Amino acid sequence: MKIRSITSHLLRVPLGDKTFYSSQAAFPERNSYLVRIETDNGLVGWGEGGQYGPAEPVAACVDAVLAPRLIGRDPTEPVRIWEELYAFSRDFGQRGTYIEAISAIDIALWDIAGQAAGLPVWKMLGGRFRDKITAYATGCYYPEKFDDLPSILRALEEEASTYTNSGFGLLKVKIGLLSLKQDIERLKVIRQAVGPDIGLLVDANHGYNAASAIRMGRMMEPLDVLFFEEPVPPEDRDGYRKVRAENPIPVAGGECDFTRYGFRDLIAGGCVDVVQPDLAVCGGFTAFTHVLGFANAYGVATVPHVWGSGVAVAAALQAVATIPAFPHTANPIALLNQPVIEFDRKHNPLRDDLLQDRFVLEDGCLAVPDKPGLGITVREDILTKYSS
Ligand SMILES: [Mg+2]
Repeated sequence: MKIRSITSHLLRVPLGDKTFYSSQAAFPERNSYLVRIETDNGLVGWGEGGQYGPAEPVAACVDAVLAPRLIGRDPTEPVRIWEELYAFSRDFGQRGTYIEAISAIDIALWDIAGQAAGLPVWKMLGGRFRDKITAYATGCYYPEKFDDLPSILRALEEEASTYTNSGFGLLKVKIGLLSLKQDIERLKVIRQAVGPDIGLLVDANHGYNAASAIRMGRMMEPLDVLFFEEPVPPEDRDGYRKVRAENPIPVAGGECDFTRYGFRDLIAGGCVDVVQPDLAVCGGFTAFTHVLGFANAYGVATVPHVWGSGVAVAAALQAVATIPAFPHTANPIALLNQPVIEFDRKHNPLRDDLLQDRFVLEDGCLAVPDKPGLGITVREDILTKYSS
């Protein structure tokens, strides 16, 4: 079997009045870079590259540089191809766009390898520990105008309740934009709205310096927060270590890190309690397996980040299924002893409408598909509708 064609798809959905904000960025649109790899015997694999930035540079890396090297190659050797592409682009592409391009290709090749073998990716990776995965809702972003705190609090109260009413047992909310005091007010309202039994996670999107993050961590302690995501910028490894040492809440990070080399420094550097590789960013399934091994050896929990289209969510489901409990326990029900999956709840038709089988939340969980490869069928009508 050989790779016959590699096609880039750039998808875009303007959000209009549904625009939302983190501490770092406005999100006036959803965009995704997808790659479609077809083999000479008619198999089709899908991958996604990048989650946060524009899709065009990832497409350029694939189309102009990486794809021509892969036509005619055996698609069922994703690890070998990963190593070759990384070695080829090492001198100019160790992080960022090139690794996002390699991520997309790697995910698509694992999809094809699984289909060729008649096995889901989780089985190709050695087996799954669970057939359904607890999902956490990501929501409670910031509105465009944030000078009217009482109205923000009222809206948050309403939004937070919708997640628990729809069955989520875990909720991740944004912090880092307002003053520490105002963001604590927001968290208090959210905690009150969801009750004491819901797991609460916070994400600062690297909005703090270490000193502010440490203060914020201490202020959040009574609110029973399970982890504090991206307290400081990803390059600030010393800041991470300080925050981890001096604030009482477990520190999470890694969505902006790349390959085993970046994660080696994050994990072995003692920066995090929970590591969050994003399949579409870190280097696909191949890099994910490296991160998982490192994390396990250092006693760090692996909880992948996912924020993209249905393809990225499908890939994350396969990966999370293969993560062992941390640590192993005879009674695997303890919260955060098992990995969970991120399920962003802001408007995104590329996540909710792109695949033939929609993601269904049941008892707060998403099911891991049994079909070969990623177990997905991409809808051509949705692809056409949002192609740019
Ligand atoms: Mg985040």
